Amino acid sequence: MKAQMKDPCRSYSLSGLNSWKVGGSADFFCQPENKEEIFYYLQWAKKQNVPVTFLGGGTNVLISDSGVEGLVIGLQKLNTFKEWEENGRLCISALAGVSKARIMQIFLRHKLPPALFLCGLPGDVGGGVVMNAGVGQDISPKEFKDIVDWVKVIREDKLILIHHEGIQWEYRSSKGWSPGLIYEVGMSWPIDPSQDVPERLKEMALKRTQSQPLQSASCGSVFKNPSTGEKSGALIEQCGLKEYQIGQACISKKHANFIVNMGGATAMDIHRLIQHVQKTVKEKFNILLEPEVKHIGRWNQN
Ligand SMILES: Cc1cc2nc3c(=O)[nH]c(=O)nc-3n(C[C@H](O)[C@H](O)[C@H](O)COP(=O)(O)OP(=O)(O)OC[C@H]3O[C@@H](n4cnc5c(N)ncnc54)[C@H](O)[C@@H]3O)c2cc1C
Repeated sequence: MKAQMKDPCRSYSLSGLNSWKVGGSADFFCQPENKEEIFYYLQWAKKQNVPVTFLGGGTNVLISDSGVEGLVIGLQKLNTFKEWEENGRLCISALAGVSKARIMQIFLRHKLPPALFLCGLPGDVGGGVVMNAGVGQDISPKEFKDIVDWVKVIREDKLILIHHEGIQWEYRSSKGWSPGLIYEVGMSWPIDPSQDVPERLKEMALKRTQSQPLQSASCGSVFKNPSTGEKSGALIEQCGLKEYQIGQACISKKHANFIVNMGGATAMDIHRLIQHVQKTVKEKFNILLEPEVKHIGRWNQN
């Protein structure tokens, strides 16, 4: 007999589910473990006539202090994956909530180069595709676009297979799969081991530790680099904004494109700091920095 599906829980705090450690509660929250449960919760939200928001690792979102309207579907329990070899390639399929670190370990065990760009990338596989997450360094592969073969997307009551070519891959975003939930991701790379992968991985990890404030709560780089070639961090630094603080939100001394939570920051502190940086950089360089982080929840009421 099929187990009875539970309704989502009410008023669930999201501050523990994002890397800035801020934000209010979801009106309703659930953590499905398989696609049947996702279909059930999507149907539930439709019946209640409430909006749905997806939350992966929460490492690229700014959640409003006033919380999130409707149903938040947390993807953390979609955490199974498979690996196999086919036509000389290492293939991995992973549900959306599998961490990038887990995928990195698989490639590292085979001494394959995708381990390098995945090294130190927080969050989950689904969020990695949404953001086309990657590194700025000139390495191959360098972002999700380079390793993803297909995604399976849940759209209303359907599971849709979309191949790599059907996705428009852009700098820190992807299109062509939405609307919907990225449920499963298929990745592969030729089995051509490089003995120096473990050593290079250590160097990449060290570089991150030296250049990023990894001890503090943050969302990584807040702004995308402008298309004109400048680095957002350098522009912010040249405005003298390192260590500039609003409430308990502060521009990192180590990396000017990081905003860190000094302990008791609110989402609004961070939001105001983002706006201040945009205004200051626009005035000095006539460049409007575009946030990489996604605002989630009731921002229009603030
Ligand atoms: C210390 C630190 C360092 C970082 N360094 C880098 C870096 O070097 N390069 C880089 O690219 N990023 C970096 N990031 C940012 C972040 O880790 C990536 O953008 C990551 O891919 C986000 O994944 P996530 O699972 O946390 O997504 P979330 O933050 O949970 O979600 C991001 C967006 O995707 C949506 N979403 C999430 N999962 C799904 C899904 N399965 N289906 C549909 N929509 C979904 C959410 O609604 C949201 O809009 C860093 C972050 C931190 C904290």
